[in-house]
Amino acid sequence: MTIRLFNTLTGRIEELSPADGKAFRMYACGPTVYDYGHIGNFRTFLQVDVLRRFLKLEGIAPKHVMNITDVDDKIIRNAAAAEVPISEYTPRFEKAFFEDLDALAVEKPEIVARATEHIPSMVALIDRLAEQDCAYRTEDGSWYFRIAKFPEYGRLSKKDFSGIEDGARVDVDEYDKDSARDFALWKAPKPGEYHWQTTLGPGRPGWHIECSAMATEYLGDGFDLHAGGEDLMFPHHENEIAQSESASHTTFARHWFHVRFLLVEGRKMSKSEGNFYTLRDLLLKGYKASAIRMLLISVPYRQQLNFTFDGLAAETGAVERLRTFLQRLRAATATAEENAALTAETAKCRQGFCDALANDLNTAEARAAIFDLVRAGNAAMDSGNLGTENVKQVLAALGEFDKVFAVLEDHDAEWTKFALEWAEREGRLGEASAEVLAQNALSDEQIQALVDERTQAKKTRNFARADQIRNELAEKGIAIEDSKDGVRWKRK
Ligand code: AMP
Ligand code: ZN
Repeated sequence: MTIRLFNTLTGRIEELSPADGKAFRMYACGPTVYDYGHIGNFRTFLQVDVLRRFLKLEGIAPKHVMNITDVDDKIIRNAAAAEVPISEYTPRFEKAFFEDLDALAVEKPEIVARATEHIPSMVALIDRLAEQDCAYRTEDGSWYFRIAKFPEYGRLSKKDFSGIEDGARVDVDEYDKDSARDFALWKAPKPGEYHWQTTLGPGRPGWHIECSAMATEYLGDGFDLHAGGEDLMFPHHENEIAQSESASHTTFARHWFHVRFLLVEGRKMSKSEGNFYTLRDLLLKGYKASAIRMLLISVPYRQQLNFTFDGLAAETGAVERLRTFLQRLRAATATAEENAALTAETAKCRQGFCDALANDLNTAEARAAIFDLVRAGNAAMDSGNLGTENVKQVLAALGEFDKVFAVLEDHDAEWTKFALEWAEREGRLGEASAEVLAQNALSDEQIQALVDERTQAKKTRNFARADQIRNELAEKGIAIEDSKDGVRWKRK
């Protein structure tokens, strides 16, 4: 199947394929590890995850590189305020970032590269630029990229910079969005600031050079796709292109994939607005990791997602519906005779699912196709008209769906528990909702002991006690299911 995706660089929807005919080489800008990730960050990482998972479903192996920005102005500032070296400040947030990706079932890229471990490649790239007069050193010992040497500057963000002022500079990582100025490749240290001793002089890398150096180190001078949130288009990605193409004289990334920013309750997410949420904030409020994933991926990446708590509650229901359907299907009594209408519907939904994703990663339509199948499958089971072949086919369709959406396996309670344990260690248990605290008031062992006691009570016909235990557990959000294989329990 041909996968088609919008390319920011050309402004067109184009076919995706690995240029080398083997692996699909892609680079995605990773996190700056100075704090916990927020849902905006994860919206972007999740959409990249959908892309890589769909490529795999279509038999294309990704070679996906993600950087970890573990040195920048903010990190230096925060580490200094905490009176620790940056190497002690960032690991905790890097670890938290990967835990959060796990909670959201985001696959780990094939290669994760830390900026601080790639200083020599960055120095080599700056040397290459300096040799071609595309980089220059200023009096304080910093190095800058000379934008005037790169006439294509602005091509990605479609900005016209023809009147560039040669030599006008910007040396902070926080940029003016509308002007083109020579940007720092290498920053000389301020007194007492952390730095590396290199042939360029003492200092530390600028933010943009990090991605250029690491992308080409692992993927070559030219590769298939570069991804990030839409805010990175200018100047970060524009600067990556300028640096890389000035050095190599070949096209850096052929395809640019940008994820639209999310809004929260209709407004820009910000700490001062009080509508800023990390993943952990939501887990502590009792929202499930799977529902958060489902919500963040269900709106296609080029559309604006308006995150609301009603929306999140609706996704909790959607995931539940899918899981219930899967359970029902596994337990269903099937007949030898095939339900031909369902066979046709299943084929249509499977095709619809793949077609939608192949068409600019339309996750909304892909998911709608699967819900059509849920409706048809439930109707077939209601009428007892379900063949063993049907079961196999519908299970296969759900399997394909879940290779991309990854919400069917239920690890939600584990992640909620994880967030609570983290909050307890950090002294932030006060942020957890009363409901979540009640649900987790009992340990797994305590619950099991009560469940066993109930089984015993039933055996001795002490139904009053058995009911009492069931009710007590229900009040704490724990559901008991009696099945032929014994008693199962789960946190709701
Ligand atoms: P950062 O850690 O700030 O460098 O951001 C990591 C990734 O999250 C980048 O690709 C950003 O573009 C993306 N990002 C940040 N905020 C949002 C948002 N509100 N919506 C979508 N993506 C975002
Ligand atoms: Zn980057």
